[in-house]
Amino acid sequence: MRKIVIAIDGYSACGKSTTAKEVAKILGYRYIDSGAMYRAVTLYFLEHHVAVTNPREVIKALEGIRLSFHINPKGVSEIYLNGLNVEDEIRSMEISQNVSQVSTLREVRTLMVDQQRKLGKEKGIVMDGRDIGTVVFPSAELKLFLTAEIMTRAYRRQQELFAKDELVELDAIVENLQKRDEIDSTRKESPLKKADDAVLLDTSHITIDEQVDEVIRMTISKAFDGRK
Ligand code: C5P
Repeated sequence: MRKIVIAIDGYSACGKSTTAKEVAKILGYRYIDSGAMYRAVTLYFLEHHVAVTNPREVIKALEGIRLSFHINPKGVSEIYLNGLNVEDEIRSMEISQNVSQVSTLREVRTLMVDQQRKLGKEKGIVMDGRDIGTVVFPSAELKLFLTAEIMTRAYRRQQELFAKDELVELDAIVENLQKRDEIDSTRKESPLKKADDAVLLDTSHITIDEQVDEVIRMTISKAFDGRK
């Protein structure tokens, strides 16, 4: 079976990462969480008090950032910022509240897209984010666009935070998800939108296993399509 590129985009907390991770594991593909890259940049900007309204300061700060992914002993890909594992830190509410603003910056996006394309050169990759099917890999063989009802998404995110000992009210999560969706969908630089050739998948009433099965089925079909 030939290897393909799978691009998964969609709104915040629709199960993109969970699905992408599992699909990558089953297919023996590489998984790249592009949101983790924007989150790590946000962490660096907050730690270094970077004024995001000053392009020169932003460019200078970006020069000090080195991102990489490493597979942990459980086989899960984790992000490193300048050699330090920041996988847990970047999932906090503080980062969630600032990441979409940072992600509107052209300088940030140009650098991230460039690094993401390099990571995907080899095919056999699953990448999730907001602009993967539209900007990063417009010719990806399989594109998915995930949506889900807001309360389902908020509840899932609350459970994830709770598992990391962060207790956050459901209302605060709903507000954060809606705010991020709004900024992500209306920004000037590569806004979140469904690619014309992406398959729309509403995950409100299906289990993760069902989502994964569906993506595997579509991947197999695409991978054999190219052989005709
Ligand atoms: O996927 P996740 O929710 O972790 O992404 C965090 C934020 O990073 C998004 O809300 C969005 O602002 C930004 N992002 C982006 N482009 C991507 C991936 C994430 O702008 N490809």
